[in-house]
Amino acid sequence: MSLAEYIWLDGNRPTQGLRAKTRFVNIKNQDACPENFPEWSFDGSSTLQAEGSDSDCGLKPVCVVADPIRGADNFLVLCEVQNADGSNHASNSRASLRAVLAAGGEERNAWIGFEQEYTLYQGGRPLGFPATGYPEPQGPYYCSIGADRAFGRMIADEHAQLCLDAGLLYYGLNAEVMPGQWEFQIGYRGFEGDDPGLLNAADHMWIARYLLDRVAEKHGVLVSYDNKPMKGDWNGAGMHTNFSCSRTRAVGGLDAIYEAVRRLAHKHDQHIAVYGDRLEERLTGAHETCSISEFKAGGADRGASIRIPLGVERAGFGYFEDRRPGANACPYRVAARIASTVFGIEIE
Ligand code: ADP
Ligand code: MN
Ligand code: MN
Ligand code: MN
Ligand code: MN
Repeated sequence: MSLAEYIWLDGNRPTQGLRAKTRFVNIKNQDACPENFPEWSFDGSSTLQAEGSDSDCGLKPVCVVADPIRGADNFLVLCEVQNADGSNHASNSRASLRAVLAAGGEERNAWIGFEQEYTLYQGGRPLGFPATGYPEPQGPYYCSIGADRAFGRMIADEHAQLCLDAGLLYYGLNAEVMPGQWEFQIGYRGFEGDDPGLLNAADHMWIARYLLDRVAEKHGVLVSYDNKPMKGDWNGAGMHTNFSCSRTRAVGGLDAIYEAVRRLAHKHDQHIAVYGDRLEERLTGAHETCSISEFKAGGADRGASIRIPLGVERAGFGYFEDRRPGANACPYRVAARIASTVFGIEIE
């Protein structure tokens, strides 16, 4: 006996949210591939995905993992949303990433690693912020230890364990620069057998977000993916995106990285357009960001749009980091945009 938690992206604009509902399935662990799970449907008029008069939207299972919350033999089933005729729903951002991969992106063997920052809230304030006034200025909180500076570790750590139990490509976590702010990474880990391809890693990111919301819910805490939760001298929250392909990883790959940077420079505006809502509040040029109206690339420069890590410059091959995406960006759209620019594949 199993329960399957069907998870999908809703029609909220500009930032899509997650929805989920549960059903019984008679599927054994060894048979747990997406094709074996039944397609399902939901009331799209309640998720900003349909009108009331014609409200059924379809759910097509695309990624199945173990459900680490319900435990043994239960599943999390990430779905794409379809129209009644089986075509891609307008809100189906995963389809745009599939399109880039099908149009030649797949054979470039791209790997991706997302750094998801988020902020934990209780009583309308980030954890660590007093009910009135402000905590001590930033400085001691990043990678901190101690009850006076690391706020919400229980949630970050429980989330890490759930991601591992689900078999996600979970890489690590750290406390961030602002109190109540944390980061986890999903994607490339350097292990044989991992598949940090764009689609798989982006699927895992959405499942990891789902698990984070569930852990926080249990603790009566809210997760905010806002790009700039606190105005003023407080860091925003981003989703730095690390990217490589067979060329950048080969000997001499630094040249392929510089070529990618030139292409990214020409498409700055198209990238900003899909890198998250109210991104201008975060990309100010301060707080370890580059201004939204500027494109800068640099070795080990945390004030750049694109950073080439020190180890990559030294080795002469590897990956680059796009520091522009905001915490509320969609991993499918970000991955599709970077791949389409770097590989010269146009998508509508
Ligand atoms: P930062 O110093 O920017 O905080 P992190 O340690 O948080 O860096 O994250 C490094 C990220 O780089 C991880 O998400 C990892 O998956 C990613 N990464 C490392 N090597 C590669 C690679 N070859 N291709 C794609 N992503 C990579
Ligand atoms: Mn009903
Ligand atoms: Mn990081
Ligand atoms: Mn960070
Ligand atoms: Mn980073």
